[in-house]
Amino acid sequence: MTADCIFCKIVKGETPTEFLYQNENLVVFRDIRPHTPVHILIVPRKHIRSINDLTETDSRIISEMIFVAKETAKKESVSASGYKLLFNVERGGGQVVFHLHLHLMGGWKR
Ligand code: AMP
Repeated sequence: MTADCIFCKIVKGETPTEFLYQNENLVVFRDIRPHTPVHILIVPRKHIRSINDLTETDSRIISEMIFVAKETAKKESVSASGYKLLFNVERGGGQVVFHLHLHLMGGWKR
């Protein structure tokens, strides 16, 4: 837990947020400023700053995040139409919240 981290506060329930899914390792919630019709964040409970800070022991959480993203896409009915999974890495990569998260984006009408 990092005191001034918004996602740590969400994970701890200090900032009320509706979880679409949660387990002992991660939480899933809608992005507050969606860029796409379906825009969901998959967030590990453990505070990891970015992809740059991953260690060997974090490899399981990354694969779990991707698996949960796939399951969430199914629940949100975007599996067949398609979606993007995105990690922004550091400021130059567009990251503004420095707690690791995976964007699930989809739902475009095509
Ligand atoms: P990134 O640019 O990859 O760091 O993305 C951070 C994302 O977190 C942005 O799309 C924000 O809209 C989203 N965000 C920030 N605060 C909240 C919040 N309290 N609840 C949900 N999403 C948030």
